[in-house]
Formats: sequence, C-alpha cells, structure tokens
Amino acid sequence: MQKYIDQLNEAQRQPVLQKDGPMIVIAGAGSGKTRVLTIRIAYLMSQGVDAFNILSLTFTNKAAREMKSRIADIVGASEAKNLWMGTFHSIFARILRSEADLLGYPSNFTIYDSQDSARLISSIIKEMQLDRDIYKPKQVLGRISNYKNNLITVKAYFNNPELQEADAMSKKPRLGEIYQQYVERCFKAGAMDFDDLLLKTNELLTRFPEVLAKYQNRFRYILVDEYQDTNHSQYLIVRALSDKFQNICVVGDDAQSIYAFRGANINNILNFQKDYDGVKMFRLEQNYRSTRNIVEAANTIIDKNKTKLDKIVWTDNDFGPKIKVHRSLTDAEEGRFVASTIFEQKMQNQLHNGAFAILYRTNAQSRAMEDALRKRDIPYRIYGGLSFYQRKEIKDVLGYLRLVVNPKDEEALIRVINYPARGIGDTTVEKLTIAANHYKRSIWEVMLNIDKIDLKLNSGTKNKLHDFVTMIQSFQVINENQDAFYLTDHVAKKTGLVQELKKDATPEGMAKVQNIEELLNGIKDFTEGQKEIDGARGALSEFLEDVALATDLDKDTADEDRVALMTIHLAKGLEFPHVFVVGMEEDLFPSAMSMSTRSELEEERRLFYVALTRAEHQAYLTYAQSRYRWGKLTDSEPSRFIEEIDGQYLEYLTPEERSYRYQPMIDKDIFGDVDKSKLRLAKPVGSIPPKSTASNEAGLNGTIRKLKPMGSKSHSTGANLFDNKLTAGTVVMHERFGKGEVINLEGVGADQKAEIKFEVGGIKKLLLRFAKLDII
Ligand code: ATP
Ligand code: MG
Repeated sequence: MQKYIDQLNEAQRQPVLQKDGPMIVIAGAGSGKTRVLTIRIAYLMSQGVDAFNILSLTFTNKAAREMKSRIADIVGASEAKNLWMGTFHSIFARILRSEADLLGYPSNFTIYDSQDSARLISSIIKEMQLDRDIYKPKQVLGRISNYKNNLITVKAYFNNPELQEADAMSKKPRLGEIYQQYVERCFKAGAMDFDDLLLKTNELLTRFPEVLAKYQNRFRYILVDEYQDTNHSQYLIVRALSDKFQNICVVGDDAQSIYAFRGANINNILNFQKDYDGVKMFRLEQNYRSTRNIVEAANTIIDKNKTKLDKIVWTDNDFGPKIKVHRSLTDAEEGRFVASTIFEQKMQNQLHNGAFAILYRTNAQSRAMEDALRKRDIPYRIYGGLSFYQRKEIKDVLGYLRLVVNPKDEEALIRVINYPARGIGDTTVEKLTIAANHYKRSIWEVMLNIDKIDLKLNSGTKNKLHDFVTMIQSFQVINENQDAFYLTDHVAKKTGLVQELKKDATPEGMAKVQNIEELLNGIKDFTEGQKEIDGARGALSEFLEDVALATDLDKDTADEDRVALMTIHLAKGLEFPHVFVVGMEEDLFPSAMSMSTRSELEEERRLFYVALTRAEHQAYLTYAQSRYRWGKLTDSEPSRFIEEIDGQYLEYLTPEERSYRYQPMIDKDIFGDVDKSKLRLAKPVGSIPPKSTASNEAGLNGTIRKLKPMGSKSHSTGANLFDNKLTAGTVVMHERFGKGEVINLEGVGADQKAEIKFEVGGIKKLLLRFAKLDII
C-alpha cells in the first residue's frame, strides 16, 4: 500500500490519508482526482474498513470497473469484489430491487430506456388527441424528466399553481395530465424509467426511516467522482446516506460542469462546505496528463468564464507540440484531413489506433469522420449514438426476454405481440390497451382474462392471443430451468424472429442476423462470467438490468485497437495521446442553441475546456467552411473558442502543407473518374495568417489580409469542367442523394448552382463547387 501512497504528490496524499469526515477535492483536469479516489479506497481497506461498507459512485460503469481492477491490484481481487461501485443508476437500481415491495413495485421491475419512455409518451399524447406539434414527445419527456430530477411528483405538480401556469404559458396546459398518465402507466407495467431510479430511491429513503438507517449503516464511507455534474435528486441521495457517519469524499471540477441541460446543478459543488460541518477542502494543482502547451492553453480558455472558482493548474511536463488548427472547405474534407493525419502519425510514430480520439459536439458529425476513416481502412469505434442494444432487431429479442421476466411490461409487449406477424392487429392491441386503462391493470392481465371480458374479439383473434400467452409462459418455464443463453437462443428461433430476418437477403438484413448472433455471444459471456464469479446460473433479469443501464462507454472491449469517436460529453474523465476536436465552428460549437445567455455560453466553454484537456500529447482543432446541416449546405465561421486561446499555443497549418498532402484525395473524390491530366491543380495561395477569420472576403484589411480560402480554386476548376458538361437534362449521381436529373443551372464560376431533381428526396439546389456529382 505504501508504495502507491508514495507515488502520489503531497497534495494528493492529504485527501487519501484523511480517513474520516466530510471532504471535497476541487481541482482542474488531469490533476489526479480520480486517482486520489482510487487510492483512497484501497487505503481505507488497508485501514480495516470493510469493502461492503464503501460506496463509490462514478460517471460510467466502465470507470467503476477500471477503478475496481486497480484496487484489486492493490488489495486483492476477492476483497475488491465486495465494493459497491458503479453509477448512481446501477447502484440504486440494485437497492430498489431488494426494497421494491415497499414502493408497490415487483422486484423484477423493468427499466424503461429513453426509447421506451418516448414511445409511451407518444402514445399517451395520441390517446389524449393532443397536437403533436405542440406536445412534442421528446420535449414533453424532457419536461417530465426535469420534474422528476427535482423531486416534483405528480402530486407536487398539481399542488403548485406556478408550474401549471408555466406549462400553460408554453401552450401545454395538459402537461400535468400527461405526466400523471405516464406515471400511472409505468407503474401498472411494473416499470421504472431512468429518472425513477433516483426519484424512487429518494422516496424510499424519506418514507422509510428504517431503510435509510440500514443503508446509512452499510455505506459508512461514500465517495463520488465528477461531483460537479450531480443533479438535485442525486445530491439528496448522497446527502441522506452520508448523514449519519459523514464520511463523504467528493471530487470534482466546477470548470468541467457540462450537464446543466440535464439538470446537473453546479451549486452542489459550490455549496458542499455549507452542507456538512467541518468540511476539509483540498486542492490539487499539478496536471500529470497533458503537455504544458495544452495545460496553459486550456487555462486561457477557462479564464474567460466569469462564474468559476479560482484554481491554479500547472504542469511539469514538456511544452510539447503546439495545438494544430486546420481549416477545410467542407466537412468531408475535414474528415479526410483527420483520417490522413491519423494515418501519417501512425506510420511515422508507430502509434496504435487507440492513441487517437475524435471528439465532436453533436453525434451527427460522426458520419463524415466515419466515411474518411473507412476509406483509409482505419478501424474506429463510435461511442454513443444509437447503441447496440437500441437497434430494432436487438430490442425485439430483448422485448421477448423482458416479457419473460416481467409480463406486465407494456412497452415490451406492444413491441412483440405482433412481431413477427401473427395476426394480432392494431385494432386488437388498441382494444386491449383501452381495457387495461379502464381496469387499471396491465395488458397482460387483460389477456389472461380475455374470456371474461367482452372486447368484441372474434374467436380467431382470441385464439391467437391465447397462443401468444402460452408461448410466453412456456418461455417462463424454460427460464426457471435453464440459463439466459439457452433461453435467448430458444426465443430467437421459436418466435420466428430469426427466420423473419433471414428472409431479407440484403447486406442490411444479414447484418441484423449477425447482430442477434452478437447478442447471443454477449449473453454467453455474461452467463459464463456469472458462473465463474459465484457459481450462480446467469440470471436473465440481471442481464437485462445490465443492458438497460449500460452506458455507451461500457461496451468497450479493451482488446480491440480502434480510434475512438464520441461526443465531448461522453469523453469526460478520459484521456488520449492525440485528440481531434472537430467542427470548431460558430453555431455548432458553441452550439446555436446555447448562445443566448451568458450561462449557456459559459457551459459551452467548459465543454471546450473538457475537450481540450482530454489530450495528453497533441491536440488538433479543425473546422470546415461549409458543411451539411439538416440536409442543407451551410456556410460556417470558425468558432470563437479558437480565437480565445492565446495565439502562442497555436499553430495554423499552412495551405502549402495541405495542398501537398491532401490534393490527391480531393481529386479523386470530387472529380470521380474525370481525366485527371486535364485538371489544373490549385497553386498554394500563401499561408493563412494566424487568427484569420477565414471568410471569403478578398482584399486587404489592415495588416491582416483575408485570403480566399485555399482550395476554392481547385474547386472552381471543377465548376468550369461542369460548365461544359452539365445542362438541363443531364443525369447525375450524387454521393449522398443518389441519382437525379439537372433541371436548371444558375450563376457562374465558383457560384454556379444546379437545381437537381433527385429520385429520392426531391429537388435540391447544390453549389457545384462543393457538390460531389458524377455524370452518368
Ligand atoms: P479529469 O478532471 O479529467 O477527470 P482527474 O483529475 O481525474 O482528471 P486523473 O485521471 O486521476 O485526473 O489523472 C490524470 C492522469 O495523470 C492519469 O493518467 C493519472 O494516472 C496521472 N497521474 C495522476 N497523479 C499522478 C502522479 N502523482 N504521478 C504520476 N501520474 C499521475
Ligand atoms: Mg477524473
């Protein structure tokens, strides 16, 4: 143990060795907060604290697993296994299962993911015959989520005229009713959504003092990572649990608070000292992660924020290379720059794929990156977006499994009752739903009593419903005698799901079958793993819970060497030798939706701080002058955040370098199979001056000459080519929109546009300079 303590610096050692009492560690990125937590837990155990008495809350399950394995290295695996470590949601789901009956829930309750919740909200809105343009399901769900995270129950809502008024003002006077319906329907289905896991834990701890006492006594030492991003509901749980022993250690960085949009409350960290008596406050200042360039550049960014705690972050590391800034014409070219840089870096410095991360503000940006990486044969992995478990075919199989565990689960039932088709139509399902609402029972219970309720169903339909019920019941019997793998395999075959998918022989169809195989592999792993751990049979319900609570980072398979692609939000707490922050453009980052108030803009700036501080050695900031957004080619300006970094830390990549490195790829992609010998390659136009606004304005402007973007010449060469070839009636093929016919041409040279009628997607106006067209 001593060895590990010796490896810490003095400032880190103090919070590790401070065994008891409330404490907070506030420190900048990369200063070892997470490391302090890890070593502290090992230290507590070495001091005789029982692993069962330690609760540690992390941002992802993956982070928890990594911490656990580090601790296992120090104290031994058998002891580390007993630690309570995980996300708020996974830990409290576990607790809720054992106490569920107190709240009137079955212990096998289902966890609805956000898709399930959105679908349920959607059907409630439909049943209430409300206007979907006003009552947008996702928005409504967001609102409800917000209420739940602030512990505003349905009852509290209806007791609060102000809230009702606010909803009425935003043209949603019936939001409360939707909320009420939603809560009732979840309850009836034996389901909790993500927010319920926190809300119900709070309810449990407030309504049942003996339960609170039990968990207070169990969790004598509580540790929380990324405390700056806890919401009100999480805050209250931590506070309640730590109230008796007050051995609470939280670590965080106010400069990295990036979840306000989801209800995170930065005041939790700012007010910590007021919440407990005798709080010890520790600060760490030395960054071990990044080069001096990156650390100092990051400091200059966060300095621009007014709301912050003053902190010092410095490093002993080398200066390292400057942050490289790259401008490109389009998002596709930006992708090519990133892919070729990774390619070159790998070659030159013998790096592996896992040394690179590409971070973006919105998931939609991944596509251009993926295209470019694929062309270069660089393996990558996307985190976030539609996760594996949310794919339709997977959710279908899981739907059956969920029904086996909890047949009241309405979302699962509606999903699979007629898939694969078995002649139970929408009208029948509607009748069942209405009856279930009327009797305040689940659809499943209505189906069990189908002969006693007059739903005006013909006997054929009744038989089909009987068959369905019998099938699910037969799965339940299997579940009692076999492991989850056997059952899933049986379900996939017996329900006809696999046969249904096999009918579709397209690559997409085949991929779906493979996904189901992959799911089976995952379940096999799970059941084997369970057997290994405690000799237990791999219980299906536990697998389903893991799936429901898996964050996208969790599915990392360490043995695969891939470039990581993810949103900045997801990258919190992680580190990579080389980091590309792409799409550094106004309206994208900072996001157009988060610029109207100072606090929103400051949150965007913190997000940028998080992005930059993920880099250990080299950071790149890239932007495109135009990109497809919402299907439209949109001009963009470089992000203000680039300008906010002190120029001494930046290196603007020169056009010479770019024309030399990327021109060949541009040729190929833009001109397709055009005879390349006819192409006039653009001459380099000189270097881009630092802090160029990269606008299209030509001419002199003070000492800074705003240059035409390099590369536009080579593109207008393309437009000239098209001048000759494109006329109304020409049939073209577009990379994204497919086949279409030119209807009209307008403008000249670089501004020439074509109006094209595509077979799919209708008429679009494209700037030929950018459009990737092949004449066919
Ligand atoms: P973030 O704010 O991004 O979550 P953090 O403060 O949690 O960062 P860590 O991830 O714990 O920082 O540490 C950053 C890196 O520095 C890690 O690779 C860690 O192993 C290393 N590190 C931390 N402390 C030391 C130390 N005393 N000696 C050497 N390396 C250290
Ligand atoms: Mg950390």
